[in-house]
Amino acid sequence: MSKLYPEVKVAPPGPNAQAIIAMDQRHSSPSYIKEYPLVVERGEGPWVYDVDGNRFLDFMAGIAVASTGHSHPTVVKAIHEAADRFLHICGTDFYYDAFSRLCARLASYLPEMGPKRVFLTNSGTEAVEGALKLARHHTRRQYVVAFKGGFHGRTYGALSLNSSKVAQRAFFGPLLPGVIHIPYATPYRCPNGCAPNACGDACNPALALEREWFVNHVDPREVAAVIVEPILGEGGYVVPPAGFLQHLRRICDAHGILLIFDEVQSGIGRTGKMFAAEHFGVMPDILLSAKGIASGMPLGAIIARESVMTWPRGSHGSTYGGNPVCCAAALATLDVVEGLLDSVSATGERLQHGLRELQARYAVIGDVRGVGLMVGAEFVEPGTREPAGAYVAALEQLAFRKGLLLLSCGKSTIRFAPPLVVGEHEVAVMLRILEECLRELPLTASSPNAAVAGVKL
Ligand code: PLP
Repeated sequence: MSKLYPEVKVAPPGPNAQAIIAMDQRHSSPSYIKEYPLVVERGEGPWVYDVDGNRFLDFMAGIAVASTGHSHPTVVKAIHEAADRFLHICGTDFYYDAFSRLCARLASYLPEMGPKRVFLTNSGTEAVEGALKLARHHTRRQYVVAFKGGFHGRTYGALSLNSSKVAQRAFFGPLLPGVIHIPYATPYRCPNGCAPNACGDACNPALALEREWFVNHVDPREVAAVIVEPILGEGGYVVPPAGFLQHLRRICDAHGILLIFDEVQSGIGRTGKMFAAEHFGVMPDILLSAKGIASGMPLGAIIARESVMTWPRGSHGSTYGGNPVCCAAALATLDVVEGLLDSVSATGERLQHGLRELQARYAVIGDVRGVGLMVGAEFVEPGTREPAGAYVAALEQLAFRKGLLLLSCGKSTIRFAPPLVVGEHEVAVMLRILEECLRELPLTASSPNAAVAGVKL
């Protein structure tokens, strides 16, 4: 197949896109974010086509979901075949092959966790809700430790764990009581303000839990779980320093607390391993998956040690969770992703290398970090090195108009989370467009470039 490039024939949003956007803006909930006016007609691999015939290179995968690329033929075939057989019977109450096979398949990953059991959901947030219920039910304890900058979903339990953007929580209270938020470990910016790499373990937030929280605020015998993203997703694509997760594991073991890894964003091959936990050599008691697990079909999973998933018959269930079509999509997705893991690592290295080259030339890029194809570039004010969210917002818009789909996260980070099928060609094309954007990036709100690019700062 010949190499493809983005093609913007009509400045987006073109007339067809505008008509759909107008209808949407009239009738859809004002809570939707709508990052930029992309109106999709179809997708293929890492390419997305809009309703005006423009072709975009996708480096965000519909928020890290289109793991196998858009409409991967193996996944689409599995969906068609499953849909032809039956659409629903309810996995909570009855049996079917794809449901049982998917539970068995998911339980086979991370053998170091020992025997496991699996509960299937429709989304990441439902997996988080279920894990909270399971942790309380199993331990008979009520408190939960979560992390600043963390994101776990939009339903009440998950929302109560979030601390990445205040708008997600504002005026929805009272939230779930008993959630303790402690800082996430950032290797490049210590929560206590120490210089990078200067403090070692001294400021490790995991240790603060033991030294401060369990001494002054809460008895660890009342803590059911610590829930953590092994790599922070929405909070800014932050890879924690060595030791952070190990300390959490040790503390949980010492106090009978369950360790939950929310791998909704970092799992299913995104980091070059099936789950990010494998990079750190730390195993959780409960692992949560969703997003890329079924290539875009709604599915999530709670994967727990058998000794932990002890809730009895009838204590938790779901009408749709583990729908047969979604299970078939997930099984096909896992087949495809298992074959991509090596190339994800290699392509991810190429991507980080290219971004570091740009960092050397453009002072607005303050940090490049990540694992596999979960990579973030943090933007800063060149003088002060403070996070510069306005550049990121401008960059997203500039890139979109040049046929590149990007998405921000955290305060001032662009995340690069493409479909796992991208290779050297797509990375090279992305880097070239990104550099064009960096050249045009308005440096201040008053820059004449801001007007030229039609960018709001
Ligand atoms: N957990 C993490 C780490 C996530 O990144 C997200 C979504 O971004 C969720 C949970 C919530 O998943 P969903 O949007 O499928 O409910």
